[in-house]
Amino acid sequence: MAIEIEQFMCLSDNFGVLIHDRESGETALIDAPEEGPILKAIERTGWKPSTILTTHHHTDHVQANLALKEKFGLTIIGPKAEAAKIPGIDRQVAGGDTLHFGGEPVRVIDTPGHTAGHVSYHFPQSGVVFTADTLFALGCGRLFECPPETMFASLKKLAALPGTTRVYCGHEYTEANARFALTIDPGNSALAARAEEIRKLRAAGKPTLPTTIERELETNPFLRWHDAGVRNTLGMAKAVDVEVFAEIRKRKDNF
Ligand code: ZN
Ligand code: FE
Repeated sequence: MAIEIEQFMCLSDNFGVLIHDRESGETALIDAPEEGPILKAIERTGWKPSTILTTHHHTDHVQANLALKEKFGLTIIGPKAEAAKIPGIDRQVAGGDTLHFGGEPVRVIDTPGHTAGHVSYHFPQSGVVFTADTLFALGCGRLFECPPETMFASLKKLAALPGTTRVYCGHEYTEANARFALTIDPGNSALAARAEEIRKLRAAGKPTLPTTIERELETNPFLRWHDAGVRNTLGMAKAVDVEVFAEIRKRKDNF
């Protein structure tokens, strides 16, 4: 059976996520952005977490670690490359490692770019990936610690997952991302339709996630470096893929 997922808002635009395996009763958190909303979600669902799967060291992803550890005695798992910056970390992982949750394997994927040690967690049996601040709906994370080549390689790995994989991200940035995407890919009718759908969801106060790999491939400009229309808009018809990606990232930084 697929994992159950409870997604909720934390801070101003972070997502908190609880995942649950009904059979074993096991529960985990993806990151720990804010104690209050996490405790409410635990109360609402009755799912008591035993683990935090940490994606990267930024404060808005780890700041409730110690408080939750004290309350629930949970095990904190996170990227080896950032272990020194992750409060309360118990177990260090890296790309290629396989963890277990409920009855299913969890693949750790190295997805550096936003930070140098960022990891994503892929549940192949449930068809879900948690990408935090690497791949966003219609966007990608800012490059704080790495050159564009690094994020480009990470996004390519995520893009290669099965198209039906559901993608959960770290932030609700989708509406602003859509406005930017339309400037890069104005001839993309799937993007125009999605932007309209997103506008309606946000006006109704609803989340725009999860998305899927397939949808992102069709509409996310950070995965469309190969597209002739995108390249023409940028005046980069003959550039290599990573240069097109870097230009899109640069324009987003200044948008
Ligand atoms: Zn971050
Ligand atoms: Fe973040």
